[in-house]
Amino acid sequence: MTSESAISYEDIARAAERLAGVANRTPVITSRRTDALLGCELFFKPENLQRTGAFKFRGAYNALSEVAEGADAAEGVVAFSSGNHAQAVALAARLLGLPATIVMPHDAPPGKRTATEGYGAQIVLYDRYTEDRAEIAAAIANDLGYTLVPPFNHAAVMAGQGTAGAELFADVGPLDYLYVCLGGGGLISGCATAARHLSPDCEVIGVEPAAGNDGQLSLQAGELVSIPVPDTIADGAQITTLGGKTFEVIQRLVSEIITVDDAQLVEAMDWMLQTTKLLIEPTGALAIAGALSEGADKLAGKRVGVILSGGNISPTRLAQLLVENRV
Ligand SMILES: *Cc1c(COP(=O)(O)O)cnc(C)c1O
Repeated sequence: MTSESAISYEDIARAAERLAGVANRTPVITSRRTDALLGCELFFKPENLQRTGAFKFRGAYNALSEVAEGADAAEGVVAFSSGNHAQAVALAARLLGLPATIVMPHDAPPGKRTATEGYGAQIVLYDRYTEDRAEIAAAIANDLGYTLVPPFNHAAVMAGQGTAGAELFADVGPLDYLYVCLGGGGLISGCATAARHLSPDCEVIGVEPAAGNDGQLSLQAGELVSIPVPDTIADGAQITTLGGKTFEVIQRLVSEIITVDDAQLVEAMDWMLQTTKLLIEPTGALAIAGALSEGADKLAGKRVGVILSGGNISPTRLAQLLVENRV
C-alpha cells in the first residue's frame, strides 16, 4: 500500500468479515456456450443475485458498519442516488439500526423509489434541473448530524466492493483477465486491489459505455477528465468523472479501459439471459459485452473472470430494449 492509496487488501479482508452472513456470497456461474464462443474458460460473478440486486450492498454495508462502530456514532446516514446505491444504503441502514435519508430526483424510476422506501429510508425529493443534490445532502448531514455515504469515492465503499473480486479469486483461483465495469470506479478499484493480492499476474480490464468514457480519457491523460452526463442506457455508469481515490487505484492497478456501445450492451443482456438465464441490467452487462467484443483473438486459452454488477431492470424495459435493438 502506498501512502496515498485509499485501500489495501487488509481493508477488503476486514470488509469480508463484516459482510459474512449478511451479504449473499454469490456463486460462480459458467457457460459452455460462452466458453465455446471465446475459446476460453470464463467465470461469471453474478452480483445481480446480491441483496438489493447489485454489488452496491457490499460497499454500503461496510461503510455503514464503520459508522455504526464509530466512537462518536453518527445519528444516521444520508446518501444521494436514484439507483442501486440508494437501495443498498437503505437496506444496510435498516440492518444496522441506523436512520437513513436518501436524496432522489423527482423523476427517479417509481420502482427504485418504492424499493428504497420499502427498506424504511426517508426519501427527500429534488428537482434535478434546478437543485444540487450534493448541497441538499450536505445540508441534511449538517442539520441532523448524519454521515454522508458517497457512492464510490470512499475507502470503506471501495473495500466493500472489492469483496466481490476477492470471493471470485477464492473460488476459482488465479485468472489471466478480470473484466469489471466502471462508473465512478468503486467496484473496479476494490476488485483490482483484491486481484493484486490474490492473483498478481491477472490483468484487470475496465469496461465503460462508449458515450461515457471519462475513465478511459482520464487514464490516457494521466489526470481526471470530466465529461457531460453521458447519453447511454447504462444508467449506473452515467458518471461525469471518477473520484480522486478511485482514480489513484485505477491508474496503478488497471491495465486498460475499453468501451462498448448501447447495442452491444443489449446483445450481451440477451446473450446472458439465453445462455445462463441471468437477468442483467444494462450497466451490469458492460463487462461481458467488453469480453465478447475482445473475442477469441485475445481470450482463447485464457482463464477469464467477468463481474456481472447488477440486475435491476424491469422485464418490460428489457423487452423494449430488445425490440428496439432488433429494428
Ligand atoms: C453503481 C453501479 C455500477 C458502477 O459502479 P462504480 O463503483 O461507480 O464504478 C455498475 N453497475 C451497477 C449495476 C451499479 O449499480
